[in-house]
Order: sequence, then structure tokens, then C-alpha cells
Amino acid sequence: MTMGSLPCNIFTPLDPDHFTEQSHRVVDFVADYYRAIENYPVRSQVEPGYLKNQLSDSAPFSPDQLEAILEDVRNHIIPGLTHWQSPNFFGYFQANASTAGFLGEMLCTGFNVVGFTWIASPAATELESIVMDWMAKMLKIPHSFTFSGGEGGGGVLLGSTCEAVVCTLAAAREKALERLGCDHIGKLVVYASDQTHATVEKASRLIGIRPSNFRPLPTSAATSFALCPEVVRKAIEDDVESGLFPLFLCATVGTTACGAVDPLEGLGQVAREYGMWFHVDAAYAGSACICEEFRSYLDGVQLADSLSMNPHKWFLSNMDCCCLWVKNPGALTSSLSMDPEFLKNKDSDTKKVVDYKDWQIALSRRFRAMKLWLVIRSHGVVNLQEHIRSDVAMAKWFESQVGMDPRFEVVVPRKFAMVCFRLKPRAGEDGSDINSRLLESINSSGRAYMTHAVVGGLYVLRFAIGTTLTEQRHVDATWKLIQEKADLIRVLEMM
Ligand code: PLP
Repeated sequence: MTMGSLPCNIFTPLDPDHFTEQSHRVVDFVADYYRAIENYPVRSQVEPGYLKNQLSDSAPFSPDQLEAILEDVRNHIIPGLTHWQSPNFFGYFQANASTAGFLGEMLCTGFNVVGFTWIASPAATELESIVMDWMAKMLKIPHSFTFSGGEGGGGVLLGSTCEAVVCTLAAAREKALERLGCDHIGKLVVYASDQTHATVEKASRLIGIRPSNFRPLPTSAATSFALCPEVVRKAIEDDVESGLFPLFLCATVGTTACGAVDPLEGLGQVAREYGMWFHVDAAYAGSACICEEFRSYLDGVQLADSLSMNPHKWFLSNMDCCCLWVKNPGALTSSLSMDPEFLKNKDSDTKKVVDYKDWQIALSRRFRAMKLWLVIRSHGVVNLQEHIRSDVAMAKWFESQVGMDPRFEVVVPRKFAMVCFRLKPRAGEDGSDINSRLLESINSSGRAYMTHAVVGGLYVLRFAIGTTLTEQRHVDATWKLIQEKADLIRVLEMM
């Protein structure tokens, strides 16, 4: 039957009874996926282009049944997934999920409101402001970053750190150019370390900073790859002498490659001295700072203009969710606001409400606060802390095993739940070849998945713990797998 011959009243895309029946089937499907997840090879084993041979090359004219669609998901999509929620996934960085995160996403997408202005959905805006203050209190960051602190600060939920950095850079650029004049954009300079996430360089390009004015300053093993304030000061002095203007300094708490922590206090002082915007990127390790024993890594954050962290990494909040706090939201809104006629309303005119459209790049926005609120309420601070601590304990155990095996070495001392290590190279080798072969043999086994980094010129394997389903037995089995593959590589070398 073609669509044209269907009676109109059959096409009811949001019928509540149909919604109940179909969504329960999808929930059951996802639950079965989690039950079976350990059986799948962690890294997908398909070849590029695999999917086009398995699916139709044009859209169906008549509707497909959910059963048939889920069958295709089972047979064609799941084999092409790298299973980030597998307990044997130790790659990249944490992107952990939870039942509460999933339920929060369901409510967010179920309501599907677009709270760009306060009146467009007052609850979405107000819940977001409340949850951002909750998070700020959990992290014990200064009142000046909160709405309730009464000093004008506040927070917003975005989709990614990249967006957070683009927004803060845009705010900093606007402020600087007001002072210097628009013609000086080519003289603005952004400082970060060679460990800073590539997103900061990308964001700098996006907001018009000359590529040659992005300074990835060197770090070394001597400071555990933290950025040294004196290195920043020297770079700034050189730039000022050349007629350039220092604009923005980004510090990281928990770098992607090796978990390095930049000294916020010292860097913040330098940024203040030169009137720069100081941003702290705690995308990954910010979650750990809700635990007393990690909180000191945020010491000095009082000197920052902005701070961001990603609950979608290590805070049991399904993608996507990035918290950004700023002390002076006016700086953001003056660079990001838009005011077309169709959005005008009397509440916005009072300037007493938050219109989050002016705190972000896009106009439309998701009701992410619903998810974060559910995550925090359903787990409680106590379980969120426990979740961090148990991952860190497993990482500590793994690090101790590496330290006890004379064939291996820990390359960067562990701070959080990620261990950077490598198979010691033989004399005359630099270690990248043997370690990349080791990594490939682990990943191609399908039994675990890890990724690599180059830190201080050394090729290292990264063992990042954080998947919600990971237990000690998985870490144990993966360490045995690594040892087994290392044995094999050494034996093959001798043949
Ligand atoms: N900053 C750090 C320290 C990260 O670890 C990451 C992701 O790994 C990012 C930024 C990028 O985050 P997003 O994907 O949210 O832009």
C-alpha cells in the first residue's frame, strides 16, 4: 500500500497509546543491549563503507514497522558500533551513561521544549539556573560564579566544551576589541599548553584569532606536563614587546592525554596582571572535584573568569551536557545576544529573567537541566562521589600492576582514573612501533579497547577507566590480556 492510499487518520505520529507501546519496545531493546554488551567486540570490526551494502539506498515511501527497523539495528547498526558503554572500554575518555541519565534524556526529549527565552519555557530556564548552582556548590566554586551568590555570576548548560570555549573566547574578544578597536583583531593572542585540548585552538580559529597567534606553550615531565606560569609570562612579555595583545589564557584540570593539572593560582595571577580572560577547562576531571580529596585541583579557580566541565564524561550523564560558569554573564550576552522581533516579550524586556539564547551559539536549545537534575537527585552526592572513587581505586590497582611488571613503565604519574604507560623499549628503539603494535593487538582482539597519546615525545597507551559497567574483574582481565599480548609480541620478535 502506498502512503497516498492510507486514510489520513492513520497518520498519527504522536499518539500516546502508540507512544507507550513503541517506546516500551525500544526500552526493552536497549536493556537487552546492555545485558549482551560484554559479548560484543569492543571496537567495531567493520570496514569503511560497510553499511551502504546492507541498507536500502533510498528512503522507504511507505512506513516500515518498528520490528523491522529494530531488526536492522540489531543486524546492521550494532556491528558497526564501538561499544563505549562496554565494561571493557578504556579508550579516549569517559562517556558514561546511567539509568538516571537515560530517564532524564527521555523527559528532556519527551517534553521537547525549546527554552531559548524564559517565557518559552520558564521551568527549563529556572531548573537550569538551579542545577548550575547545585553543581557549583558540589564543586565548592566561589559564589561569584552562581546565580544565588548575588554577585552577578551564573551558569549555563551547553552541548560541549568546544561550544563553551567558543562562547567565552567570543566574550573575551568582544571586550578586548571594544577597548582596542575592531582593526586590532589580528593582534589578539590566545595562550594554552601543548597539552590543552585541540578544541581551544579550533575555537580560537573560529572566533577569528590568527592561527599564528595561538600559543601552545611547552610542558615537560619535570612539571608532570602542567603549564608553568613563568613560561606563560615569558611568552606574554615577548608578544607584548612585538606589539601583540594577550587576550585569553586557558588552563586545564585533567588534560585529555595524561590527566595533567595546570596550577590555577599561578596562571590566574599572570592572567590578571595582563588583563586577560582566564578560562579553566575541567571537562574530564571536574567531576572528580566533588570529592574532597580532589578539590584542591580547583584551588585558584576564584581567579578565573569562566570554568567548564562535562557531566557527559564522568558524571553518569548521558550525552550531551557541558556546564559553563561565568562571573560576568554580561560579557557573554553582549557578544552572543540577538534580539529579533519574534522573540521580544515583556519578561525579557524587564531584564530580570535569564534568556539562555544569549549565553550560547545557537538559538534553539535542549532541556538538559532535566537530565542533570535527575542524575543528581537519583544518585545523590554520596553515590556520585562513590562512583568517582571506585574508578580511581581500580586505576590505582592497574597502575600498581604496571609498576610491578618489569617489562612496563608508568610514563606519567596517575592523578585520576587514567593510567599512561608503555612497554619499555629495547635499547635503540623509541618505543612507538612496539607499543602501537601492542595496542593494535589488544584492540583487534575485541576483548578490550584502549587508545594512545604522545606525551613528552613518548608514545603511550592510555587506560582510562570510567564506564559505568566496569568492575574490578574487567580491569583484571584486561591487564592479563595486555600481558599476554606483550608476551606474544616479544616472542614474535625473537623468531
Ligand atoms: N577538554 C578536555 C580536557 C577534554 O578531555 C575534552 C574531551 O576529551 C574536551 C575538552 C572536548 O570536549 P567536547 O567534546 O565536549 O568539546
